Amino acid sequence: MILQLVITMECDILVIGAGIFGLSSAFYLKTQNSGKRVVVIDRLGGPGQGNSAKSEGAFRNLFTSETNFLLADSTIDWFKHMEEDLGYHINLSYIGYLFLLSEEQYTGQRAAFDRIRGWGAEMRVLEREELEEMIPDLVTDFAEDEEAELLGLKPVDYGVLGRKCGSLDADALTRAYEEEFLKLGGEVSYGTEASRLILKPVEELEIPGEPFVWQDTHIAGAETSKGEIKAETTVIAAGAWSESLLDPIGFDSFMRPKKRQLFAFKDPRLDGLFKVEGLNDYGAMPLTVLPKASILFRPELSEGSIWLGCADNLGRRFKLEDDPKAEEDYYTNNVYHALVKYFPCFKDVRPMNMWADQYAINSFDEIPVVTSIPRMIYVGAGSGSGIMKCDAVARVAAALHGGEEEVELYGGRRFRVADLGIHKRRAERESLVI
Ligand SMILES: Cc1cc2nc3c(=O)[nH]c(=O)nc-3n(C[C@H](O)[C@H](O)[C@H](O)COP(=O)(O)OP(=O)(O)OC[C@H]3O[C@@H](n4cnc5c(N)ncnc54)[C@H](O)[C@@H]3O)c2cc1C
Repeated sequence: MILQLVITMECDILVIGAGIFGLSSAFYLKTQNSGKRVVVIDRLGGPGQGNSAKSEGAFRNLFTSETNFLLADSTIDWFKHMEEDLGYHINLSYIGYLFLLSEEQYTGQRAAFDRIRGWGAEMRVLEREELEEMIPDLVTDFAEDEEAELLGLKPVDYGVLGRKCGSLDADALTRAYEEEFLKLGGEVSYGTEASRLILKPVEELEIPGEPFVWQDTHIAGAETSKGEIKAETTVIAAGAWSESLLDPIGFDSFMRPKKRQLFAFKDPRLDGLFKVEGLNDYGAMPLTVLPKASILFRPELSEGSIWLGCADNLGRRFKLEDDPKAEEDYYTNNVYHALVKYFPCFKDVRPMNMWADQYAINSFDEIPVVTSIPRMIYVGAGSGSGIMKCDAVARVAAALHGGEEEVELYGGRRFRVADLGIHKRRAERESLVI
């Protein structure tokens, strides 16, 4: 049911944010609480219009943290189930992830790659000669290139190719969760902005100034642009904007927002990137991560284009923005110079389209956070890879609501709910961050 107008409303579970975390959590919360009223609100006009639909839609199970591996690996299995068994067209393409590495980088990560293989991830290591043969557009060595030396570019000595990795349509995925949620009788209200969480004393005395410091408190819902919504449980899934709701009540969102940009190219000079044999079933480049500057690109097979991003860290400020814009000169004066050395086919090619939004980064361990205070659950800190972990994260959120210590991820593996929390968190820091 799509709610049009709210004046004052009561529900059992209020989810603030209709991104991938909000809608997937709402789906599992409603699945486990079928008789309860579960309402999702979003300030924007439809599902996934924050970060989710603007993401690169890439997924991988190559993570150095076992926690991240489990979250992503089980979620990727769920994606397959959604497409093959539930009939959703989420454009799942197993194009693979190819990390291009110098000898030094490969040696430094080798033990981590062995560990990942031990968890069951399928991986292939390619040497420089094989890469040169398979990818004619790739330059691997800059021995005679003074400019490349000036840029500090590393040679490509190895490629590590992840198989259970690829891309999907993140917008379609978010809509699929919404549809499943609505089918169960869940409710959504778009164009509804939460302005404030309602913090109440557990025992109300009806005295002005409550809650006082000596009173126990809980969250009782939210004030919104369409009136007050009272809820037994309020789930904060407002992505990079979560701090706007959580800071005023003094709750740490354990993430900070940072702009990330994507540039799309469609040009005959890039055709070679769609004619690469032996790396996947599509005869195209996998999602490819360069050895320097965290530059990555992937083919978008549905439109024959290349989507390119760059995870700039130091030098890119943390800042919450309502509608961040891509900066073309960030590509032309910056990313381009390193990119064109490794892939000269990009020479003089300009983006046909570009957009931006923000990662919600937990810089401590780069792993999502699912935690609670009385009558409130926070699901966030996707840290740039929330799409690929959404199903597992949502199951953890629903289990936390149900008071369970463990949850079964899709495919049957068990996961300790507190591992994504704060107080009893048990998660190894991720080092394969892009
Ligand atoms: C450029 C870019 C590329 C990315 N690429 C990938 C990728 O390839 N793979 C991957 O897995 N992840 C990727 N990510 C990360 C991924 O997009 C996020 O981890 C994921 O979308 C987070 O989902 P979310 O539900 O937490 O946030 P969002 O999708 O941002 O949802 C939060 C929602 O809350 C709503 N909201 C906020 N405040 C309020 C309020 N006060 N009241 C009501 N509603 C509110 C917003 O409108 C929004 O719809 C990328 C992100 C970016 C920016």
